[in-house]
Amino acid sequence: MWSYVLNKKWRPDCWRTISGDDLLKLIERMSRVCKAISIDFEQTEEAYKSKSTLELLRSLLVFKLCSYDLVVDKNMEIMSLSKKLLGQSLFEKAMKATFYGQFVAGEDHQSIRPLIQKNQTYGVGAVLDYSVEEDLTQEEAEKKEMDSCVSVAEKENDDHREKKYKAHRKFGDRRGGVISARTYFYADEAKCDQHMETFLNCIRASGGSSEDGFSAIKMTALGRPQFLLQFSEVLVKWRRFFSFLAAKQGKGGMDVLEQKLELDKLQVGHRRSVFSAVLSLCRTIDLLDWNSLIDDRTRISNLLVVPNLETGELEPLLKKFTDEEEKQMKRMLQRIDVLAKHAVEHGVRLMVDAEQTYFQPAISRLTLEMQRIFNRQKPIIFNTYQCYLKEAFDNVSMDVELSRREDWFFGAKLVRGAYMYQERSRAQEIGYQDPINPDYEATNQMYHKCLDYVLEEIAASRKANVMVASHNLDTVKFTLERMNELGLTPTERKVYFGQLLGMCDQISFPLGQAGFPVYKYVPYGPVNEVIPYLSRRAQENRGFMKGAQTERQLLWKEVLRRLASGEVLYRPA
Ligand SMILES: Cc1cc2nc3c(=O)[nH]c(=O)nc-3n(C[C@H](O)[C@H](O)[C@H](O)COP(=O)(O)OP(=O)(O)OC[C@H]3O[C@@H](n4cnc5c(N)ncnc54)[C@H](O)[C@@H]3O)c2cc1C
Repeated sequence: MWSYVLNKKWRPDCWRTISGDDLLKLIERMSRVCKAISIDFEQTEEAYKSKSTLELLRSLLVFKLCSYDLVVDKNMEIMSLSKKLLGQSLFEKAMKATFYGQFVAGEDHQSIRPLIQKNQTYGVGAVLDYSVEEDLTQEEAEKKEMDSCVSVAEKENDDHREKKYKAHRKFGDRRGGVISARTYFYADEAKCDQHMETFLNCIRASGGSSEDGFSAIKMTALGRPQFLLQFSEVLVKWRRFFSFLAAKQGKGGMDVLEQKLELDKLQVGHRRSVFSAVLSLCRTIDLLDWNSLIDDRTRISNLLVVPNLETGELEPLLKKFTDEEEKQMKRMLQRIDVLAKHAVEHGVRLMVDAEQTYFQPAISRLTLEMQRIFNRQKPIIFNTYQCYLKEAFDNVSMDVELSRREDWFFGAKLVRGAYMYQERSRAQEIGYQDPINPDYEATNQMYHKCLDYVLEEIAASRKANVMVASHNLDTVKFTLERMNELGLTPTERKVYFGQLLGMCDQISFPLGQAGFPVYKYVPYGPVNEVIPYLSRRAQENRGFMKGAQTERQLLWKEVLRRLASGEVLYRPA
């Protein structure tokens, strides 16, 4: 009965005296009053019901291979040698029987359909994620990065930029030390249009495959990254300016939401400069209005001005921007706008992935500007918050507060963060403060603090939405516990769970079958072109990782159970 109701498979006409809506409400109320829904994540029969025994054995083989350091460390070399030895056709077969079959849904929209539909019958949805990546050498990647992140004015030595927000050749290959995320390098505007087309196809396919689909996009795919670097620097300098003024009034250590400036308490000498800066800030914020941003008449470079901490006067970030640079910035925003409108048309929610901290302030701010426009009636645009960042809670709480004040639907994906090693070594090498929490425990605490804040907001307003994008079982259990305490039911569909395809089915499927909205990030693309993605999957499933070990134990448990009960030839219906 429970899974029948929670999966919305009930038919109102079964119940003569009570309407469907009332019945659902009654059941939701009962569920709050009665005992909390508890899910047994060790119950492998339920968890692997969607998998044939052959698929379980394939998972065991793949995870076993990932337990060999040599295989993981040399996976790219092994794959390219296998291709040479086996030939393309046999290589593809071997990949489909192993890594590709485990972690990738298929080559294109058509071929991934059966898997998506099968998962859906077990209550697990899909976030389509086209995973094709260019197979660049490190040198090529570094060159592309330096070409696309340095303005003409910088080349001419107009240089008072902050080192964190400048491209550095040594860290030009942004793929280094990243395990979960795909990396785009800028080639030209035509390539960005191509990426946009791919995302549009994804949105259409997501709209067609379910009623409440998600699609994921990355902003670095949609334009020249130089703009993201520059805009990030501007935003950070404005925030720093505000903190500087707040500190002058003894509010330095306070939470960001409490740092309210009292202009009349500023020293007379400072007041004039503060006023001029605040007036300019207002002008800057006006410019940030989404419609104005994408309007051809607005010069984006007018936004790229920063306050001077001493004088309060505004200074341009760079002396000049070329017309081509101006057009590139505009086109990036216009592509984002096309995607958002397409998502609205197809009833698909758009998830904007989080990336490196030197791009992220701009990515997050542009996403927020889209939310202000497109999240008026329901949450369409989702921002991503990386909880390994020291500033994660400030970011989450400020954006929630803004959504409250302006009355739009807050939508967030919470992750721990994929770029830790790269961020740390870049900060150390280049010489700025490490943006990452000091240890794993601090990241866990940050995650739970941010999550708690959003869950309480959902309980209070019923407007916010959150995706708990994590493979961490403790985090999933924490979420379920807090949902129970706050009276948030799965049928309200405000709290979602997200995991990657081929990983942690023992978490996703029990959640789905208990009626919780749960989604797999579903990568797809031709075998040869998703190899870099597969390489990262191997890294993330290294045998010594706790999650990978648990998964292997549970898979064995289920295979042995099927052997003992004679279900060894089991195939899902
Ligand atoms: C559906 C989905 C979508 C995702 N989207 C994004 C995205 O848009 N952007 C993005 O950056 N990542 C994204 N990720 C990846 C995510 O950020 C994590 O890298 C990955 O999920 C591992 O974290 P976990 O919570 O699943 O597992 P856990 O194993 O519990 O956490 C591992 C993570 O903890 C953090 N950590 C580990 N050691 C330390 C330490 N010593 N100090 C501080 N922190 C530490 C790191 O972030 C590490 O990745 C996504 C993941 C999923 C499942």
